[in-house]
Amino acid sequence: MDNQLVLYNTLTRKKEKFEPLHPPFVGMYVCGPTVYSDVHLGNCRTFVSFDLIFRYLLHLGYKVRYVRNITDAGHLEGDHDEGDDKFAKKAKLEKLEPMEIVQKYTLGFHEVLRLFNTLPPSIEPTATGHISEQIEMVKKIIEQGYAYEVNGTVYFDVEKYVKEYDYTTLTNRKLDDMLNNTRELNGQDEKRGRLDFALWIKAKPEHIMRWPSPWGVGFPGWHIECSAMSSKYLGEQFDIHGGGMDLAATHHTNEIAQSQACNHTQPAKYWMHTNMLTVNGARMSKSAGNGFLPHELFSGNHSLLSRGYSPMAVRFFMLQAHYRSTLDFSNEALDAADKGFKRLMNAMALLPKLKATAKKAEFKVDELQQRCYAAMDDDFNSPVLIAELFEAVRIVNSVYDGKLAIDEPSLAGLKTLMQHFVHDVLGLIDDNTGSDDFEQLMEMIIALRNGAKQNKDYATSDRIREGLSAIGIQLKDSKEGTLWNKI
Ligand SMILES: [Zn+2]
Repeated sequence: MDNQLVLYNTLTRKKEKFEPLHPPFVGMYVCGPTVYSDVHLGNCRTFVSFDLIFRYLLHLGYKVRYVRNITDAGHLEGDHDEGDDKFAKKAKLEKLEPMEIVQKYTLGFHEVLRLFNTLPPSIEPTATGHISEQIEMVKKIIEQGYAYEVNGTVYFDVEKYVKEYDYTTLTNRKLDDMLNNTRELNGQDEKRGRLDFALWIKAKPEHIMRWPSPWGVGFPGWHIECSAMSSKYLGEQFDIHGGGMDLAATHHTNEIAQSQACNHTQPAKYWMHTNMLTVNGARMSKSAGNGFLPHELFSGNHSLLSRGYSPMAVRFFMLQAHYRSTLDFSNEALDAADKGFKRLMNAMALLPKLKATAKKAEFKVDELQQRCYAAMDDDFNSPVLIAELFEAVRIVNSVYDGKLAIDEPSLAGLKTLMQHFVHDVLGLIDDNTGSDDFEQLMEMIIALRNGAKQNKDYATSDRIREGLSAIGIQLKDSKEGTLWNKI
């Protein structure tokens, strides 16, 4: 397939031409949520970013298998095999079964992503549904000599691994620095090396989520699930592996090590990472107290927010920043995004109402379309795409006001361009108006007003016009009848 797509590969730290291993097929794996609490906005940004990537690859004609897992077991509080099991702890707090916690927050996660209009992945595998695959992979890593068992727990032998492979390939950190940043082994530690990590963990008697294995009853380590599930559904080598940038240093580094030790291949050709969120310039985090949840953002029910914003306005806001840049939340920035989103949706609503003119178009749709593709081909540069789409908005408004000519082919081209980039690629839909109900309601109101005018009841017709204007709906009388648009 011929395309000009270039993307930034964390592995090589540069932009590379996108050449899938088996075109037209593309395999993409994205690390999904750990479903023990409400999904936070940073995660939403990651999944909206990969939704944009998924949508653009589909738009280019690729047959994409998009796998995004659900972590529902094995994730301890610390990244280095320490702390409580996240599910068991929450289950205890909420007096629920761990799988009730999983169900509750999986449903919540899906609901939030539905509001953000993300497409569902092709496969959404769970860690608990793939215990045997994980055990098989751990067995293979032991057979290859890169893991060892101590008292029912299996550890990956990083010291052995670094003799043959590069453990720092994804982050380019120095191994010595990594060692210095890891806590000293104390006498009771079963690990041979400080960087070793658990592939399988022996369950303590009180641990509820447990499975039999060749090493006794236990549960999988967090990193092994993604290696086992990505290779099961996408093969030992696939095209894109993605996630939040906070996953690169440990989780993804360990995924690469597991796949290399097991299959002697890099699992993914391209590694892509999304940047983090900040609030008024400071990193968003629960502990800093400046984090808010998606539903708080939608309702405005949070001390840092002056009002609520629709999920689509928030999606637009996220896409106004490139996925590799930080994204700063502030009331001013959200207000500006909300206005921009409404302008874009208004132009989308006007588009079907435009009439072609006999005069030749005074602009070139083809050139605008080329610039839209060029933006997305440059590492999915959605902010540049959005800037180009505002050129289209300007054209739509000028044609609507009778200030710009548009011939039939140009109008058709403009409609296709907006449909492709606004709806299909950016995934933006009007979540306020645009429904059939709303259209019918507007038709009825316009008919009532026109009836009042015919009866010379100008007081009523003016009241209707002013009332609509107060809620941001403008009426325009023309030869073809009365048109309306949101301002
Ligand atoms: Zn993962």
